[in-house]
Amino acid sequence: MSTPSGFLSGKTALVTGAGSGIGRAIAAALVGAGAHVIVNDKRGAGKAIAEGLGGSFIQADLSTPEEAERLAAEALASRGRVDILVNNAGFQHVSPITEFPVAKWTEMLGLMLTAPFVLTKGLMGPMMEAGWGRIINIASIHALIASPNKAAYTAAKHGLAGLTKVAALEAGAHGVTVNAICPAYVRTPLVEAQLPAQAATLGIPEEEVVSKVMLEPAAIKRLIEPNEVGALALFLTSDAAATITGLALPMDLGWTAR
Ligand code: NAD
Repeated sequence: MSTPSGFLSGKTALVTGAGSGIGRAIAAALVGAGAHVIVNDKRGAGKAIAEGLGGSFIQADLSTPEEAERLAAEALASRGRVDILVNNAGFQHVSPITEFPVAKWTEMLGLMLTAPFVLTKGLMGPMMEAGWGRIINIASIHALIASPNKAAYTAAKHGLAGLTKVAALEAGAHGVTVNAICPAYVRTPLVEAQLPAQAATLGIPEEEVVSKVMLEPAAIKRLIEPNEVGALALFLTSDAAATITGLALPMDLGWTAR
């Protein structure tokens, strides 16, 4: 996927959860193509990431709709426009449904489904008025398939794929595309944090959790790197992807070919 250099010059992008992992890599890819990036994160660490990218930082905890509304308003006010929205912030909690805390369910659905809805609601209208926009939702392979013990994550990501389709239908005639990227396991702190618990549960070393559990259904036997997700997101912002919309794009090492 090659894209013309500087093709995002003059554009402003908002990337949620860009203080780490995939969001950080997407923010860097967009900056590399000339965009100004507004980094959001609930952690203050996002400020240094934003400064390193020559962008700006808005701290907000997106597990409440009020904070998502504030982020949309502040992002628009700070730059006068948001051309690209990347809904990326998320986290995993692993527990059987019978023991899944309701508060954790509510927090996860708030962050990974309601916040993308609130941000889309606030920012898609101005994009349509401007006649150009890109919304990229970082879903997951769990938007397409399920795993036991991941009820809230799987429900939120399936919901995000549905929101993606509706937004694509509503915005398509106005130069705005809306797509979801559905990665399998990406080498980030979110995945690294799951290793000790899974190793303990299964009674195997952490390295074997990667090779025997995470990569077991994959055709390509390696983790995805964050910058590979960044490259796909960047492609979706390009003119070459102007007719691609409403998709839940697997980036899954061949997992769903099974
Ligand atoms: P990560 O933990 O490296 O980064 C997530 C970032 O989101 C962190 O900086 C964190 O502070 C921020 N965040 C968490 N809760 C937040 C909140 N309430 N408000 C604002 N920011 C918040 O994780 P990652 O692996 O880069 O995951 C990013 C996205 O990619 C998530 O939506 C995740 O579900 C998705 N995803 C990850 C993988 C993977 O294997 N890593 C695979 C598929 C999808």
